[in-house]
Amino acid sequence: MDDNATSPTAITSRTYLILSVAIAIGTFIVDAITPAESVIAALYVGVVLLCARFLQTRGVVLVSFGCMVLTVLAHFLTPYDDDFETISISNRILSLAAIGVATFLAVQSRSQEMVLREQAGLLDLTHDTIFVRDMKDVITYWNRGAEELYGWKKAEAIGRVTHDLMRTIFPMPLKAIMEELLRTGRWEGELVHTRKDGTQAIVASRWSLQKDARGLPVAILETNNDISDRKRAEDALRESERRYKSIFRTAGVSIWEEDFSQIKAAIDELRAQGVENFRAYFAAHPEIVREFISCAKVVDVNDATVELFKAQSKDELLHSLDAVFTSETLEAFAGELIAVAEERPYFSAETILQTLKGDKLTVLFAITFPPRPSRLDRVLVTITDITERKRAEEALHEAQAELAHITRVTTMNALTSSIAHEVSQPLSAIVSNGYAGLRWIDRQPPDLEGARRTFEHIVGDGHRAGEVIGRVRGLLKKTPTIRGSVDVTELIQDTVAVVHGEVLRNGILLRTELARELPPVVGDRVQVQQVLLNLMMNGIDAMKEVTERPRELWIRSHLDESGAVGVAVHDTGVGLDPSNVERLFEAFYTTKSEGMGMGLAICRSIIEAHGGRLGASPNQPCGAVFKFSLPRERDETASAAAEPGEH
Ligand code: ADP
Repeated sequence: MDDNATSPTAITSRTYLILSVAIAIGTFIVDAITPAESVIAALYVGVVLLCARFLQTRGVVLVSFGCMVLTVLAHFLTPYDDDFETISISNRILSLAAIGVATFLAVQSRSQEMVLREQAGLLDLTHDTIFVRDMKDVITYWNRGAEELYGWKKAEAIGRVTHDLMRTIFPMPLKAIMEELLRTGRWEGELVHTRKDGTQAIVASRWSLQKDARGLPVAILETNNDISDRKRAEDALRESERRYKSIFRTAGVSIWEEDFSQIKAAIDELRAQGVENFRAYFAAHPEIVREFISCAKVVDVNDATVELFKAQSKDELLHSLDAVFTSETLEAFAGELIAVAEERPYFSAETILQTLKGDKLTVLFAITFPPRPSRLDRVLVTITDITERKRAEEALHEAQAELAHITRVTTMNALTSSIAHEVSQPLSAIVSNGYAGLRWIDRQPPDLEGARRTFEHIVGDGHRAGEVIGRVRGLLKKTPTIRGSVDVTELIQDTVAVVHGEVLRNGILLRTELARELPPVVGDRVQVQQVLLNLMMNGIDAMKEVTERPRELWIRSHLDESGAVGVAVHDTGVGLDPSNVERLFEAFYTTKSEGMGMGLAICRSIIEAHGGRLGASPNQPCGAVFKFSLPRERDETASAAAEPGEH
């Protein structure tokens, strides 16, 4: 079957040709000059057989014809005795017959060989590795696929014992494999072979038994496919699956594997019915959101989940989410449904869940959807218990609010005398207007018009005193943080009114330069007012010892380039050391004998909690400037809306 083994090379073809021509000429000469024609004719048979090794069928026939012509020609050239003439003719006929038979057999074997060679050529076209070995495992055929896979050329492999050459590792004892092969005529399995370069290849191997005419096994045809890459990919997949399972099981955070395919199908159905804005749709139909809960199937949960939700075993948590949902969870679940509808890859939100024992848990949950297109039959939800963190945050907020209140009270204490003055002024005006009113009435006849005017003054003063008290009460009230829309211009004017008396008492010139039509900011009005009050009081304090220049306090407001509302408090006080500015904002840093050193620290935390910034710098030519900025309402709401983890 082997092409190389049967086809002569160019050099051997030439050698054969020369040899054949030499034998033919030699035979002819000897035949023509001697009467030994029967022996000589046999040599022509040799020439034909020799040529058949390197010539095509037509060439063999031509050579055969030539030999016949020479045989006949020699007959006429040979000097015969008359006695031998008849014998010679019959010998010549026998010789011609011998040449003819030899030609026929040579041509026939030649065409059989061609068929085999063509078949072998076809086997070389396949990418599969094919080789044949005899019953002693000696390789007799080796195709190009085998050369490519294993690295040995035909000439190197043929004649070698297969399993020695390739150091075959079998999946079961070779004896068992051979038994099956002999019994059924086939065997299939995976083998590990070592290539010529020493690397290993995993192959899917198919063996077929070849039998001779008597049914005896003569050879084994082995077809191998290299599955090393597939094997490696399968191993990598198995390994990654194993790692995933191990992470899933042992992770300290609660992980849920959920099947959202029913939810996805239901949402697709709604879309087909014409629903486009799912956000609006779910907001308008909370009952549908509730119905969706039972569509989410819990496939698996990890150990941390069992522990967090106080379950006896994971079975208690499988199947439905109902057991851990609370009424507060619904909003976050609606967010999840919107994320599915909008085909987002990720969604996270903060919500309240409950354990199987009914304890409330504040959690941060994150849900990762598989890449599209997907039936969403495997989504991962991680749940982080932030109950304690939330509690700590709330406690911190409460403590901060308490501290802010205390500093507010302290600031207001400093203002007591000027506020008292502010209140007593309208009060004494009320008293004197009261007397004046009485006098107008006591007149004969009573001057009602004069009395009316004094009563109007009394009402105005009463309102003024009431406003001062109202502002002070507003600042001293201990209210929880209330976020709302704050008009900064109005807030500045209110605060200026509160410190008005103190400003006058200290001989300070207070000026305001307020931007027109400032947009509102979002925040807690009392807290923002506390900041401004604190900055103004600090400015007043800083100017108390200034005698050599005018004491001036400026309040300016503006809208900065980023769209934030900015407020600046300028004074002409003792000023600050630019290298020491940040220290002023540290808690308990004070240069005042009765100072607490908490004012600026609290101011900064309030402004930062509102998403703004507070800083200080020297004023020109003297004093200090304290500036804060707050994002305007639209920006603030936009950033708050993006908050629930929509990535
Ligand atoms: P307190 O007023 O109780 O000292 P603050 O935190 O309000 O606490 O202020 C910290 C310190 O910052 C003050 O003691 C003062 O030294 C400095 N400071 C604050 N405002 C000004 C200002 N306008 N000019 C100069 N120094 C100031």
